[in-house]
Amino acid sequence: MVVTIDPSAGFCFGVVRAVKTAENEILQGRQLSSLGDLVHNEQEVRRLNKIGLRSVTPEKFENIQNQTILIRAHGEPPETFKTAKRNNVTLIDATCPIVTRLQQRIAESHVEMKERGGQVLIYGKQGHPEVTGLLGYTDGEAVVIKEEKDLGNIDFSRPLRLYSQTTMSREGFEEIKEKISALLDGHSDFKAYNTVCGQISGRVPLLIDFAGQHDVIIFVSGKKSSNGKYLYGICKEVNPASYFISAKDDINESWFENVKTVGVSGATSTPVWMLEEVAEAITNK
Ligand code: SF4
Repeated sequence: MVVTIDPSAGFCFGVVRAVKTAENEILQGRQLSSLGDLVHNEQEVRRLNKIGLRSVTPEKFENIQNQTILIRAHGEPPETFKTAKRNNVTLIDATCPIVTRLQQRIAESHVEMKERGGQVLIYGKQGHPEVTGLLGYTDGEAVVIKEEKDLGNIDFSRPLRLYSQTTMSREGFEEIKEKISALLDGHSDFKAYNTVCGQISGRVPLLIDFAGQHDVIIFVSGKKSSNGKYLYGICKEVNPASYFISAKDDINESWFENVKTVGVSGATSTPVWMLEEVAEAITNK
């Protein structure tokens, strides 16, 4: 049985940057906590905990004083920076530059829509940390849309500006955009900006190829990763013999009966060391 690791898998650039920032700070002897889990991957969080990274929940952050806190790649709302200043907390900002740019664009649109009586729309998941951060740049006024039922919260008589959470699917964004366009009257001022990250959308065609080239696909991802769920769904569609696991212990030997080739892939928050560990475990079965 030949086991191959997907060459396009591994951390996205934003997560690599956040993890490196954390490791460098810890190496310099700094006591550091991340605001929320640094990555949506339980095993990588455990590895980082072992080298000294702690994590604080957003609820506890309010009461923290005189500490150093790392902001993860998803970014944070402006309120977090104000709280930190008030509580003498030093922030190390590892927000992905792509997310920072999106926050700026949404803040500008919010100002424009305020002046013109419009609405900013965000295609994304309510409660996802990136969306919570983006909402903060609209004073909580943007409308979050994930599916058709959320369209009822849009006032179609007003100017509308649509953006996407960076980790959503490009097809999903196009679908929502079409549905909104179909509900507009002829005079509506609607602009849609596809802000899905290229690190996500660029992986899709590569993953489709990879999933089609192997008898079985083992997809490794944290359960909380939205991009993991999305990319796994793509694998499953191309290759029904695709299995989602979060750690090597989830591997089931029966998946490999009479199988010649196995592909191992993962989410943009799955580290390469985990893919290697899983590939080795399958090889040794
Ligand atoms: S998916 Fe894209 S935007 Fe999000 S952290 Fe990774 S590189 Fe940045």
